[in-house]
Amino acid sequence: MIAAKLTEHITVITDLLGVNLTLITGDEKAVLVDTGYGLDQIAPVLTGLTDLPVQVILTHAHHDHSLGAMQFESVWAFPEEGPVYAQYTCRERRMKILRNAGLSPDAYAWYLDRPMPALHLLEEGSIDLGDVHVDVMHVPGHTPGSAMMYIPEDGVLVSGDNWNPETWLFFPEALPLHVYKRNVMRVLERPFGSVICSHRQGLFERTRLERFLAGIRATAPWQLSPFADLPDIRRGMMTLDGDQVIAFDVDKCDFEQLDI
Ligand SMILES: [Zn+2]
Repeated sequence: MIAAKLTEHITVITDLLGVNLTLITGDEKAVLVDTGYGLDQIAPVLTGLTDLPVQVILTHAHHDHSLGAMQFESVWAFPEEGPVYAQYTCRERRMKILRNAGLSPDAYAWYLDRPMPALHLLEEGSIDLGDVHVDVMHVPGHTPGSAMMYIPEDGVLVSGDNWNPETWLFFPEALPLHVYKRNVMRVLERPFGSVICSHRQGLFERTRLERFLAGIRATAPWQLSPFADLPDIRRGMMTLDGDQVIAFDVDKCDFEQLDI
């Protein structure tokens, strides 16, 4: 795992397969946002960064964010993520991850067998870490229980998978594109200056997200782009802001509502 300090209170840890975990450290407590695939050991990395108690919160329960929770006793997520958590952390899913990563199931028997902790039910609101706060927002979109975090003292938004320069919104549990846009637009009411996303490194300017959302319009061109794992879903790809992409389920989207 690689750790990079991005702001006064925020360090991003990147796991073996390139997924970001975000550690927000105050002077009394810390919050770890997401846990990655869980293939590498997280505790030694955390120990090197803080000796404070750490609360683990998931932006959502897809396997690449939640499976690392097997290394913790407690984890918080919005209750709407319950079914996603059950589906995406099962043994079969873990086996598929090992296969795709070229890792031997024999060497990773612990990974296949370790139980997941039960989800504590997350609520919206501000978590006080001492000299810094984490404002937790429920923003249904990428999944029904997706969370985004605003850290006011550092002017940062942690977007989870609700925004990456390539955002995926075509899985069965994802909300329709027009609902996603409406929900994420509300987050712009917070005066953050930069964004940390899940699958790319570094701090992004707020304008990247603004231009991304503004580009999702009924008149924006899109094209079909089938996804082999989900042959029954008509996946559309819309290019935004020159080089950003949103992939969405065409049949769920009410295009007339995209401009509201
Ligand atoms: Zn996801």
